[in-house]
Amino acid sequence: MTLSERDLEVIWHPYTQMQTATPPVAIVRGEGACVYDDNGKCYIDAVSSWWVNIHGHAHPYIAQKVAEQLKTLEHVIFAGFTHQPAVELAERLLAILPNNQQKVFYSDNGSTAVEVALKMCLQYWNNKNQPRTKILAFHNAYHGDTFGAMAVSGRSAFTAAFDSLLFEVEFVDLPNSDNIGDLKSRITELKSSLACFIFEPLVQGSGGMLMYEAQYLDELMLHCKNEEVFTIADEVFTGFGRTGKRFACNHLQQQPDIMCFSKGLTGGTMALGVTTCTQQIYDAFLSSDRLKTLFHGHSFTANPIACAAALASMDLFIDAKTGENIDRIAESHLQFAEKIESHPRIKTIRQTGTIIAMEWNTGGDTSYFNTLRDTLYHYFLNAGIILRPLGNIIYILPPYCISNEQLSYIYSTIIQALDTI
Ligand SMILES: *Cc1c(COP(=O)(O)O)cnc(C)c1O
Repeated sequence: MTLSERDLEVIWHPYTQMQTATPPVAIVRGEGACVYDDNGKCYIDAVSSWWVNIHGHAHPYIAQKVAEQLKTLEHVIFAGFTHQPAVELAERLLAILPNNQQKVFYSDNGSTAVEVALKMCLQYWNNKNQPRTKILAFHNAYHGDTFGAMAVSGRSAFTAAFDSLLFEVEFVDLPNSDNIGDLKSRITELKSSLACFIFEPLVQGSGGMLMYEAQYLDELMLHCKNEEVFTIADEVFTGFGRTGKRFACNHLQQQPDIMCFSKGLTGGTMALGVTTCTQQIYDAFLSSDRLKTLFHGHSFTANPIACAAALASMDLFIDAKTGENIDRIAESHLQFAEKIESHPRIKTIRQTGTIIAMEWNTGGDTSYFNTLRDTLYHYFLNAGIILRPLGNIIYILPPYCISNEQLSYIYSTIIQALDTI
């Protein structure tokens, strides 16, 4: 039996309708922007394997650092104990984040980083004896698949089976020049019950790579600050260079109270989540009353191997070469956007930093279940490119080491698809 046949006997895959899905492609190794299947076929990973892989696959430097850590300390309980990789990673992260971020809380992935952020805000108000239980979020938001993270995500096909169980959240549209006044009034109206406002800064990833302007997010954040409503920037996707700057928040004037990270954090090597917060939030949990403790933790909190992978990824990330690559990809995307924006099959095209997204004219609706999606997915897979359209929206967000030749090949294959499908 092949690996993919054995897989189908025993494995249930994420976000996959197992009855109709084609068998999974068995990948045996990776190198740079490519992964290789069991027949030796190369696939360019144009989506950085669900947006996590920023430095390319099986990076030798990260591999070496992880191997060293494995031989030194693989894990230790993180309540009552600490270790070098966790401390160093926290120090180095805080040094490159907005300077109001003062404390690092570790968890396992993006969803748990969001859960921790929500708990910090809700319990802050509880600890202050002024309970606030409402949360403000954007329509079409995506913050993860655990229950709290789902609750603050837009109601969609992903949440439908659970909608009646999700706590109530106030959803508003993305800000623009027309609605910004109304949004601010809404926040003022709700303020006495509003614990926090959570958002994906500048780009809503899973919602379809929807982009909005820094100026209006800044206005909302400033208004929240004036009204004493905490802001949570979920940078799980936008962090670590995706939007052209180190973090999407670097495009803003305002600083969020809490930030969430995962995906690019370890360069796609290990699962790790981070939630950072201000001194004000941290201080509200200091007390002789033990009930004011943040009772949250995971078995693998601050796993040393994951922290070592994140440190190695950080070394590569702050290297000048990575910045040049990010600029090169952004420039190349921009030129491609100009080239195809008038193509009759392109409805809209948007780009920021290393992210480019194209919405295809289908005649049908723009939705996750658009049938064009499967056609396109297999078309690109055949051509040796991993692209996973969100419905009729195709997006590219490659590892930063992708070559110009590989990028050109992706672009020309997309043009071919536009012309022939
Ligand atoms: C992917 C994502 C999450 C969830 O992260 P997981 O590691 O998949 O749990 C949360 N927020 C945003 C913005 C994301 O893109």
